[in-house]
Amino acid sequence: MHTIGDAIQAGKKGLQSQCPSCKQIVVMWWGLLTLPEDTLLADIGPRARCSKCGHKGLAVKVYEDTVSAPQGVTPKPRFGL
Ligand SMILES: [Zn+2]
Repeated sequence: MHTIGDAIQAGKKGLQSQCPSCKQIVVMWWGLLTLPEDTLLADIGPRARCSKCGHKGLAVKVYEDTVSAPQGVTPKPRFGL
C-alpha cells in the first residue's frame, strides 16, 4: 500500500495524522482530501500542516478503523500545498 489509490482499493476510509508538536490527531476522510489518487502516502505527512498549532510535518498513517465519516463534524485537514 503505497499511494492513496492503493489504500482506497484496500477498503480504507481515509488517513489519520498526528501532530508531533501538540499531539492533535485528525482523521482525514477521502472525501476531504483534494490530492490525486497516485499521491504517495509517504509524501503527505511532510507536506501537511497542523490545523491547531501550525506545525509543518505530521505523522500520517492509513486510518484503520471502520467508522465512517460523521456528518457535519469532520475536522477539515489543511494541506498547505
Ligand atoms: Zn499541532
